[in-house]
Amino acid sequence: MQTDALVAIRAGKLFIGGEWRDAESGRTFPTINPSTAEPLTEVAEGDVADVDQAVRAARGAFESGAWPAMDARSRAKLLHAVADGLEARADELARLETMDNGKPLREARMFDIKESIECFRYYAGWADKIYGDVIPLPGPYLNYTRLEPIGVCGAIIPWNYPLQMAAWKVAPALACGNTVVLKPAEQTPLTALELARIASEAGLPAGVLNVVTGHGETAGAALVRHPDVDKIAFTGSTEVGRIIQREAAGNLKRVSLELGGKSPNIVLADADIEAAVRGATSAIFYNTGQACTAGSRLLIDESIRDEFLEKLAKRADGMRPGDPLNPKTRMGPLISQEQLDRVLGYIEKGKSEGAELVIGGDRAEVSNNPGYFLNPTIFDRVTPEMTIAREEIFGPVLAVTTFADLDEAIELGNKTDYGLAAAVWTQDVKKAHRAAHALRAGTVWVNMYHTLDTGSPFGGYKHSGYGRELGKYALDLYTQVKSVWVNLA
Ligand code: ADP
Repeated sequence: MQTDALVAIRAGKLFIGGEWRDAESGRTFPTINPSTAEPLTEVAEGDVADVDQAVRAARGAFESGAWPAMDARSRAKLLHAVADGLEARADELARLETMDNGKPLREARMFDIKESIECFRYYAGWADKIYGDVIPLPGPYLNYTRLEPIGVCGAIIPWNYPLQMAAWKVAPALACGNTVVLKPAEQTPLTALELARIASEAGLPAGVLNVVTGHGETAGAALVRHPDVDKIAFTGSTEVGRIIQREAAGNLKRVSLELGGKSPNIVLADADIEAAVRGATSAIFYNTGQACTAGSRLLIDESIRDEFLEKLAKRADGMRPGDPLNPKTRMGPLISQEQLDRVLGYIEKGKSEGAELVIGGDRAEVSNNPGYFLNPTIFDRVTPEMTIAREEIFGPVLAVTTFADLDEAIELGNKTDYGLAAAVWTQDVKKAHRAAHALRAGTVWVNMYHTLDTGSPFGGYKHSGYGRELGKYALDLYTQVKSVWVNLA
C-alpha cells in the first residue's frame, strides 16, 4: 500500500478503546510536511473529553485484567507480534516518518524504525522475567516482593523521533502489564496512529493502547491532570517538563522526565582527529540538530583548534540539507516555521554577542522548495556566558570553545544546567575514564557519539530530567514493588 493512501485512510481519527473515533468536538488540524511546508493530512484535535474517554478505556482494560492478568508469556507473544507488524511495514513507516518529520529516509528506516522494532522485541523478552525477591527476615515469616504494574500510563512524546519515542514508552509500559494513553506531538502524529493500528491488528486487546492526537496545552495537559492516570512518562522540553511535574501533583502521579540538553563534546589534543571531526559533525548535525543529545558545545584543545576547525567546516559544508526522500540527503529541514524562526533568532544572538560565524547561519535553498531548510552553522570563539553556549537551540548550530587542559575541559563541560550526554575524544585511557567519571551527564561516550541501544539506560542529570528509559532500568519506571508477608507461626 502506498504511504499516500495510508495518509488518506487515517485522516482525522483518534484510537480509543480499540476503535477509530472522531474527536468529540469534531475538530481536526493539519500536520505539515516540513520539507514542502504543505499539509500532509488532517489529524483529530483531541481535547479534555477525548482524553477522558481514552483514560476510561485504558482503566477498563487494566481493571478487567485483560492485560495485567494475562500470563506474561502471552503478553510477550503479543509484543513480538507488534514488532513483526512494524517490521512488515518498515519501509512504509519510514516514508511516513520522513514525510511527517522531514528526516532523511535512510535514517528513518535504518535508525528510527529499526530501533522501534528492536525496542518492542527487547521488552517482549522482559515480559516474563519481571519478578521480585524472597527476603530472609528474622521471625516466622515468609516475605516476598512482587513487581506489579502501576496502572494507566500517559505517554507524552516529542516530534524529533516520533515512532521511536512512542516505542521507548509503550513497549516497556505494556511489558510490565500497564495500559497506555499515548499523546504524540502535534507536529508528527502519524506513525503513532500507525503503531496503534499495527498493535490492534497484532491482537492487542481493546483499550490497552489508546492514541489521542492533539495539542500540548489541551490534550497533553488534560492527560497530565487526569485524576485516573497513575503515571506520566514525558520526553520534551525542560520548560514543559517543569509544568508537567507541577500539574501531575494533584493525584501524586509518578512522573519520569527526559528533557533538554546542551551536551559537551570534548576533543583532547591526542585524539584521532579524523574520527573526532566525523563524530563532531554527526554529533550536532544528525537529525538537523533536533536531538536532545546533540553535541551542541564542541570543546577543543586550543593546540589543535585551527586544524580541527578547518576540517570540521569542510565536512559541515558537505552536509548541506536536501530533499529527505532523496537517498543521498544527509540532513533534512527543521520541523516547522516556528522552529526555524527560533533557531534563526539564536543565530542572530550568537552574532550580536560576539561569536564568530565560521559557516552557515542562513536558510538553504533546496530546489525551490519552501521547506524549513537551514544550512549547517558553526560559531567559533564562543564563551560560556553567551546565550548560544547556554540554551538548547535544537537546530544545526554548533558553539565552539577552546580549553587549555583536561581539567578546564571538564569544568567547561559541566558548566551547564543540563546533563543529558557528553563525549570525550582521546587515545589516553586514563584521561578517557577521568572525564567519563567527572562529567555530570546520564550518558558519556568515549571516541564515539550518539550511539544508543535498547539495552542501555538513557536519561538525564540535572535539568535534563530523571528516571532511566531503556534497558532493565525502564522496568523501574513502569512497576511498583509490593511486599507480601506470610505468618508461618
Ligand atoms: P518541543 O519544544 O520539542 O516541541 P515540547 O516540550 O513543547 O517539546 O513538547 C513535547 C510534547 O509535550 C508534545 O507532545 C507536546 O504536545 C506536549 N506538551 C506541550 N505542552 C504541554 C503541556 N502544557 N502539558 C502537557 N503536554 C504538553
